[in-house]
Amino acid sequence: MSEKMITKQANRFHWHTAIFVGLFHVGAIAALFMFDWKAIVVAIALWWISASLGVGMGFHRQLTHRSFKTPKLVEYFLTLCGTLALEGGHILWVVTHRIHHAHTDAPADPHTPRDGGWWSHIGWMLMGPAQHYEKSVIEHYAPDLVRDPFHVWLNRLYWVPLVLLAVGLLAFGGWSFVLWGIFFRVTFNLHATWLVNSATHMWGRRRFFTRDDSKNNWWVALLTFGEGWHNNHHAHPTSARHGLAWYEIDLNWWGIRVMQFLRLARAIKLVSVGNRADA
Ligand SMILES: [Zn+2]
Ligand SMILES: [Zn+2]
Repeated sequence: MSEKMITKQANRFHWHTAIFVGLFHVGAIAALFMFDWKAIVVAIALWWISASLGVGMGFHRQLTHRSFKTPKLVEYFLTLCGTLALEGGHILWVVTHRIHHAHTDAPADPHTPRDGGWWSHIGWMLMGPAQHYEKSVIEHYAPDLVRDPFHVWLNRLYWVPLVLLAVGLLAFGGWSFVLWGIFFRVTFNLHATWLVNSATHMWGRRRFFTRDDSKNNWWVALLTFGEGWHNNHHAHPTSARHGLAWYEIDLNWWGIRVMQFLRLARAIKLVSVGNRADA
């Protein structure tokens, strides 16, 4: 699909997105005034479930890049975990990310720091055409997902699982559980995810000579369960493993290995040693 077709949709300010992002930041700050160890432990567990099982392993490595295969039920479960990160409908997430790989750091990239550091972090989401694509763009970039009624349905109702979780946390642990387990966790993780779009295209080391600006950034990797080894990832997008050296901690890859051990993941794609620049 041409860059013109992707960018032709008018840029406008997305008020509803801005209001929700603002509200979540207020809730995250309020959590700091309601310190509760139990609530923080619950928030950390939910962070791993939503960000690692959901976004890293589910949205990114399985749905976007098809780095490994699972039974359909497992794919749906990982997707459901990802909705708890409140990163919009997952089909739109996949479309945005596939466009990012097709046009990395080029004019049609939805979030390149070449258009500004803050733009690549949050501006693209508040003002850009990404996440608001026309049907033809969605069908072009995610034909595999628009064919699946479950994915189409959950993509539309992506916020429902989080609302149900919030109600459950309120009943089970009170407001401190909601503030930490929903507002603080979601806000913290939104910034962690956005850092993959901003920081890892600006700061870090490059192992591979790719045509884009992608970098390996250890602290973004720690905040995202391994998504910060972004230069490795752009060089080998379909590899299920992003951290390629022992010191490149990649918990999402460990998760996939555990799933493989449990016979839940198969057809796992990896970087062949011959392609490694440092091999
Ligand atoms: Zn990238
Ligand atoms: Zn990717």
